[in-house]
Amino acid sequence: MHKQKLLKFQNRALVLNSIRQHGPISRVDVARRTGLSVGALTALTRELVENGLIYEKQEGDSRGGRPPILLALQPEGAYVVGAKLTEDHITFALTNLDADVIGRLTLENPSVEPEEVAQRMADGIHRLVADSQIQRSRLLGVGIGMAGIVEADTGVCVASPILGWENVPFADLVEQRTILPVYLDNDVNTLTLVEKLYGAGVGSNHFLTITVGRGIGLGIVVNGQLYRGMGGAGEFGHTVIDPQGYVCDCGKRGCLETFVGDPWLLRRAAEQALHYNTIEELSTAAQNGQQQMVELIQKAGASLGYGIAILVNILNPQLLIFSGEGMRYGEMLLQPMREALYANSMSALSSGLKLHTEPLGDDAWARGAASLVLQELFRTSQRELDTVTSM
Ligand SMILES: [Zn+2]
Repeated sequence: MHKQKLLKFQNRALVLNSIRQHGPISRVDVARRTGLSVGALTALTRELVENGLIYEKQEGDSRGGRPPILLALQPEGAYVVGAKLTEDHITFALTNLDADVIGRLTLENPSVEPEEVAQRMADGIHRLVADSQIQRSRLLGVGIGMAGIVEADTGVCVASPILGWENVPFADLVEQRTILPVYLDNDVNTLTLVEKLYGAGVGSNHFLTITVGRGIGLGIVVNGQLYRGMGGAGEFGHTVIDPQGYVCDCGKRGCLETFVGDPWLLRRAAEQALHYNTIEELSTAAQNGQQQMVELIQKAGASLGYGIAILVNILNPQLLIFSGEGMRYGEMLLQPMREALYANSMSALSSGLKLHTEPLGDDAWARGAASLVLQELFRTSQRELDTVTSM
């Protein structure tokens, strides 16, 4: 891209983000926050107003003179689709620029063959947009979250044991069928992004999102950025805490997940001759005071806290966000988790730590996926610049 043009798109994202975070805000304040000249800003904001992404409000502190014109984000100026892909269904959400969900759809996934899943994805997006009666031209793109190791830059699913995929260029497959920019990422990363942009992680530069459910997920934000390592960072559930323990799905023994994950809780209950068909049944038994199940959940909580203590010592985060279906156990899980966390981490590192529990609603995963596209709009990086250019 021509350097002049690149600079313009970079500035545009900067301005848009400033208005999103601080709006309604005057042009003078945007100029102060972004370091742009008022002249440059006037041209940029005119374009954003014309595109319907922001609007002008005439109010605020008048101090006797003409009230200043404030700029605010137009949440309905554009839309994105988020989709959470699992082995048996796809959950879609259509959101506005504030990540408010304005349309939902769930489709069954009878097969996990990548081309078929991509086609189902395209059909779902089409239906969602049609049902919501928005203009398709206002759709910025599609974000997809899935379990597994994902190369976010290329949109390739490197490995997803749940779907049995290896090196599937899934973003491309969906892009070909929708003619929209498609972003693919690990589902826990998408959940972490939505917390960073719109949730408990706003204003926090170092935080961890920990999900508990079928497995254990970890999203890492360091220095304000999602940390991906070589692509697979966050496999916290496969931290070995008992080398003599059960053989895990990953092939190692005694992973954290074998103490906390849903299938493992069911298996450990069965070993005590307590057979539950679903994790919900097991959970209900525990809530009703079934002593062995209470102890099982408490032990899961303590194991989790032990693992998190290691993370706290290494990463020294300011905030931990807990999410996922496992939050259904509430304090039964969380209290022993906190005890083990504080007992096993350095108090200088954990004393200022904030803990936040997020009840996982149906929309959370799909909203997270939608935030993949929103972050592209609001941040300044090469990939987003390409996206904005093609709009
Ligand atoms: Zn494992």
